[in-house]
Amino acid sequence: MVNRKCTLCNNHFLGRVNDRFGVYAHINCVKDKLTYLEWQYCPTARDLIISHLPNERLQFNGGFSHCVWSQRHPAIPANMTLSYFLSTHEDEVLDAIKRHNEATALGTLSIRTASVAKRKAADAARDSFKEKFHEACIERNAPFRSVHGLRKQLCAPLFNLINVPRPEEMVRRAMFAIQHRNAVPDLLRRYVFEECDVTSVQLVTSYANRIDTIAWRYAFRAGSDPRQWVDMAINVKDVQLIPDALKQGFNAARVVRATHEFAADMEYVLSSQINMAASLEDFETRLQHLKTLPLEHADVRHMVTWRSDIVGIAASYKRAMECAGENAYTRFGGKCFELRGEHSAAQDLDTLMRA
Ligand SMILES: [Zn+2]
Repeated sequence: MVNRKCTLCNNHFLGRVNDRFGVYAHINCVKDKLTYLEWQYCPTARDLIISHLPNERLQFNGGFSHCVWSQRHPAIPANMTLSYFLSTHEDEVLDAIKRHNEATALGTLSIRTASVAKRKAADAARDSFKEKFHEACIERNAPFRSVHGLRKQLCAPLFNLINVPRPEEMVRRAMFAIQHRNAVPDLLRRYVFEECDVTSVQLVTSYANRIDTIAWRYAFRAGSDPRQWVDMAINVKDVQLIPDALKQGFNAARVVRATHEFAADMEYVLSSQINMAASLEDFETRLQHLKTLPLEHADVRHMVTWRSDIVGIAASYKRAMECAGENAYTRFGGKCFELRGEHSAAQDLDTLMRA
């Protein structure tokens, strides 16, 4: 076997000729001879160098950099090294560096020009807004003449609600807010003054005092009809059910009314039935059947919480009472809810009595 040696370190080496630089050497020995261009040259000079010299992109410090052979070495031709290239192309390299510096300066200049232009445009827009705002104030005979003057008349939250980038619209909203603010409770100001339409004011003044404040956020919101919430006492159970109903896309006011006669300890049962219902009508049907069950027993409430087939359960309980009497549940427990299929009363009783 031939004892081969690395041309650079003279140690044992059994690899292949490095096809980039044409040397028979360890890869690490080759790397020792290379230099990273990105560290030392601007992009224009780097491009000039790599267009003339063999180079390799190597990973360094997390990024890739172009590497060329740095110093002359007997193992490779002189014209493949950076030191030779610099000695023969000095003017071209200097020229590339100069071009880069000029381009960068121009770039900086254009960024500066752009930011000046942007600031001027912003100033002009602000001046134009002020002017139009002032004109709109005069035209509408507003009790203020500038944005600054308006700010002094409205509290910050109300100002923010009517603050829009269209001067005429902002003056209209401001005057509307000043006119109606005393008729609208703080909690409903967002509802009324985000759009500033008179219908909202009328709904609030007519119905707010007849709707539980807990329900205001549901009654007075886009797409809701406050009249549906009038004269309805909201309890703790409802507060939990309303979000469930809204999540299902059901009319929340109707859900609250439908569940009103159920006790507060039914909230989990009702909430889970809302989530299982296919529609509001389906939910109302489930409630009708729920009512027929002996809900005074905690076990029964627990059982129906996670059962979807309320209609079947209610039908079974009805049959159990028909064959075993009113106190069927106390006698037979959960078996009263499991009667299914077509059977006679005698057969049902037989099923209940079986262990
Ligand atoms: Zn070596």
